[in-house]
Amino acid sequence: MKITEKLMVKDQLISFEVFPPKTDSAFESIEWSVRELAAFNPDFMSVTYGAGGGTSQYTTKIASLIKNRLDTTALAHLTCASTPKDKIDSILDTLKENHIDNILPMRGDIPKDYIRPDGEYYTYACELVSHIKEYGYFDIGGACYPECHPECESLEKDIEHLKIKVDCGIDFLISQLFYDNDIYYSFLDKVRKKGIYAPVFAGIMPITNIKQVDRITCLSQTKLPKDATDFLEKYKDSPEDLEKAGLQFAIKQINDLLANGVNGIHIYTMNKPKTARTVLKGITR
Ligand SMILES: Cc1cc2nc3c(=O)[nH]c(=O)nc-3n(C[C@H](O)[C@H](O)[C@H](O)COP(=O)(O)OP(=O)(O)OC[C@H]3O[C@@H](n4cnc5c(N)ncnc54)[C@H](O)[C@@H]3O)c2cc1C
Repeated sequence: MKITEKLMVKDQLISFEVFPPKTDSAFESIEWSVRELAAFNPDFMSVTYGAGGGTSQYTTKIASLIKNRLDTTALAHLTCASTPKDKIDSILDTLKENHIDNILPMRGDIPKDYIRPDGEYYTYACELVSHIKEYGYFDIGGACYPECHPECESLEKDIEHLKIKVDCGIDFLISQLFYDNDIYYSFLDKVRKKGIYAPVFAGIMPITNIKQVDRITCLSQTKLPKDATDFLEKYKDSPEDLEKAGLQFAIKQINDLLANGVNGIHIYTMNKPKTARTVLKGITR
């Protein structure tokens, strides 16, 4: 089912992000997590795409499992920084053959030690969006950044670029993770004023350990509000208490977003069913 069709029957969607295995030997344990997560009946599940480009077959395999064996709407990510232009249509054909109706085209980032094979590549996600729009068949999502994409000089400029991307054929947006809802509300306001009316799903990554939050906030340049830094400091030597406080923080954040009418919550599950279970139990819908 297409995500826009889901939005016609439900005002607010709850979705999960999972990542695929890197090797065949890891497939079984990831399959187990994905099955557990699908049992919570999310509105859709998205599957990330490896930055180095080598894992596209696993993205399709997991998305196909979600769609065809677990009867859950699937969204496959695809990045153009690591996928040459002439390989894109065969990936789209395979997704279509597997009845995966939704796609999240992105630029992606090239890992430092990755040597990109020769070939022609798109520079920005908007070019891939146009290509897929012309191909047809898919509902198309896009990534957006409430705190500005780290490479862009200003949020205003980033939103100008976002407008170009949306006009190329985006049906819905999924935000980068954030921990301060006021930043998200202010972003939404700016986006709407710019004439971007696509639904925007709020990306939430529950904090479950200190290393994860350090790595992620550094990578995405996400700010932590005082109530988050307070519990991180208070429980820095107590991983169990820190996880509990992190999950409670996420629940509070999501309940506030839902009460304020967001189009959906996209939970970065890190393939952890326990995280998703606790968060779902705590949210009021
Ligand atoms: C919800 C979500 C899911 C993600 N999933 C994955 C994944 O599965 N795999 C993965 O590798 N990465 C993933 N990422 C990370 C993403 O690929 C990186 O953040 C990447 O750096 C940007 O991708 P993009 O599609 O947003 O790029 P773009 O929209 O192309 O933007 C990239 C930069 O270029 C600028 N820009 C865009 N268009 C133009 C233009 N026309 N002219 C000039 N400048 C422009 C933007 O302001 C921005 O600074 C995800 C991110 C999010 C938010």
